Amino acid sequence: MDDLFQLNKKRLGFGLMRLPKDGNGKIDLKETSAMADRFIEKGFTYFDTAYMYQGSEEIFREAIGSRHPRDSYTLASKMAGWALSDDFTPEKMFEEQLRRTGLDYFDFYLLHNINKEHVKLYDKYDVWSYCQKLKRDGKIRHLGFSFHDTPELLDKILSEHPEAEFVQLQINYLDWTSPRVQSGGIYEVARKYNKPIIIMEPVKGGLLSNLQPQITEPFANTPASYALRFAAGLDGVMAILSGMSTMQQLEENVRLFSPFQKLSEDEMKAVQEVKKRIESLQVIECTSCRYCTPECPQKIAIPDIFRMLNDEAVMNNKEKPKNDYKALIADGKSGRASSCIKCGKCEKACPQKLPIRKYLENAEDSLM
Ligand code: SF4
Ligand code: SF4
Repeated sequence: MDDLFQLNKKRLGFGLMRLPKDGNGKIDLKETSAMADRFIEKGFTYFDTAYMYQGSEEIFREAIGSRHPRDSYTLASKMAGWALSDDFTPEKMFEEQLRRTGLDYFDFYLLHNINKEHVKLYDKYDVWSYCQKLKRDGKIRHLGFSFHDTPELLDKILSEHPEAEFVQLQINYLDWTSPRVQSGGIYEVARKYNKPIIIMEPVKGGLLSNLQPQITEPFANTPASYALRFAAGLDGVMAILSGMSTMQQLEENVRLFSPFQKLSEDEMKAVQEVKKRIESLQVIECTSCRYCTPECPQKIAIPDIFRMLNDEAVMNNKEKPKNDYKALIADGKSGRASSCIKCGKCEKACPQKLPIRKYLENAEDSLM
């Protein structure tokens, strides 16, 4: 059996959820291919996609699967329990994923976004047993799950499902003590069960790489590099996922992990200081996952508006978020924040459990 802790020696993983887009809003195949080529050329192997990442499994096939030997990379994908139904069974979803990616097996396969609601769906459709069968049949190599809930629930699931070989957790320095995300608590549970950890959102959807200079003044290097090194330096980590969108980001990350160096004691102190400064600004802890947007009957681009509100809190240039908001509405890319009818559908889909309705209440006033 593979030692999962050792399987991804370079630690960095390429998250295929925020890929570069062309002028028409479509994933840019040429740029994605160039980025993937560079990633592989530098000796990195781990790619991460999901059934729910729109166009991502298909672009994987075009940019990577059809252009690189099968043993030059590993792919993780995920089953979306909340998209299953009596007609759309786990078998059908899995077969569709193989078709989309052009592969005949996945190296890593995850039950996506387990929380107290979704856990019932994975039981209802017997997904755990189905995945164990897939493993026996050689269609998946390693089984795990991604998780957004409390340490108590994680403990319960890991004790009930020893077949889970690894876990994917949201871990970054800002969420470490957050009562909503509890990165520190869920990390400790995964360590207790000795499960290799894949880290998602190490820069919190870009928030930790996009801070104003007054906040990041204790850092001697880019804010993103501190966030990535914080997460990657934890014991038991198998991969750090970075949803890279540009070649520049990719080059910076590749450099940072060639080879990777843990934060020193002084650098860790700088991280704690920056954390304190961000917390004093009370930014919205949205990771831009976009699970909420298809639910909204008013077509409100919730994460884009939250990003603008955060920009307003942490950036020097206060006019920029206002102009961005005007353009978002004028281009028809979002309903107005004030058009929210408070139906609450977005909040049910939000893995961060954000009080979206409350945040939207004053957004229009702030951004106009
Ligand atoms: S509560 Fe508002 S933002 Fe959320 S889905 Fe309903 S209309 Fe959209
Ligand atoms: S509001 Fe929640 S669901 Fe929507 S993008 Fe942000 S974190 Fe994701």
